[in-house]
Amino acid sequence: MTHQYPALTTEQKKELQEIAQRIVAPGKGILAADESTGSMAKRLNPIGVENTEENRRLYLIFFHETLYQSTDDGTPFVKLIKDKGIVVGIKVDKGVVPLAGTNGETTTQGLDGLSERCAQYKKDGADFAKWRCVLKISETTPSALAIMENANVLARYASICQQNGIVPIVEPEILPDGDHDLKRCQYVTEKVLAACYKALSDHHVYLEGTLLKPNMVTAGHSCPTKYGCGEIGMATVTALRRTVPPAVTGVTFLSGGQSEEEASINLNAINTCPLIKPWALTFSYGRALQASALNAWRGAKDNEKSATEEFIKRAQANGLAAQGKYMSSGTGGAAAQSLYVANHAY
Ligand code: 13P
Repeated sequence: MTHQYPALTTEQKKELQEIAQRIVAPGKGILAADESTGSMAKRLNPIGVENTEENRRLYLIFFHETLYQSTDDGTPFVKLIKDKGIVVGIKVDKGVVPLAGTNGETTTQGLDGLSERCAQYKKDGADFAKWRCVLKISETTPSALAIMENANVLARYASICQQNGIVPIVEPEILPDGDHDLKRCQYVTEKVLAACYKALSDHHVYLEGTLLKPNMVTAGHSCPTKYGCGEIGMATVTALRRTVPPAVTGVTFLSGGQSEEEASINLNAINTCPLIKPWALTFSYGRALQASALNAWRGAKDNEKSATEEFIKRAQANGLAAQGKYMSSGTGGAAAQSLYVANHAY
């Protein structure tokens, strides 16, 4: 039987846990605006804005490029954000690649040179990182290979991050594509998360210094049965309770193509679910925190103020939802629009 050689000092563990706790403090969450330069086209094209370096800078995301950009008056973005008491994170994976011999399944690449990159990002102000793996639900998927391979690569990434003082966000996203029901999503989510925590344990990852970024348990996008937020909340918390150790500091859900309003309502339902929940349960939304703001901005300087206001509105709604205190006012308009994209990539 293996035994663990020292991997992290007490001080390193303390730092990691404190970072993770700051990120998921009551009412706090993550704006996952970390689209790669290619994915930014999907955010900017619909609002008629060209996908140029300057427009990506104006929009401010935290991908490698933007981490090193500055405001008009020359203040580095990292400084601007940190001075506001916000923790800065960076996406460190290099995207999905096919797993040959599977039915269209993928793994995520980016381990080569990751330690050096993490050391540099830490020096440059980043305290957490994200790595997204993708799993698909169909009759034949996820395969045992995809589950195992993605769990292992996430654990390896998490281990490398922690060695460099960076809190890893472990993201095994199960796509909402398909016509499967809520039960099937819950079953697959449990299997995927169980495999991830086995791999994290095998890699001696310090769970207190990690965050999990899962999908909520929802039915497939084309499932004919529609489920209420109470059922989604119960299925999600049940799946997490069966698989995620209480030592994990927090769970920061992705929005996965839900409308802004749906993502807030479901997060609230997760937090009001009457089961014991030993972790902070909050948001790390991409689409569901950006849609209204992008729509208000449309790349025009004059719209910056209203775009910021729209963003703050959603951030406040989700801040309340993360505490189980959000009351939906039945918002229509952009916030109610589905943000689903088939086979979505970041
Ligand atoms: P969505 O909230 O748009 O699903 O994205 C979150 C994210 O960062 C996925 O990697």
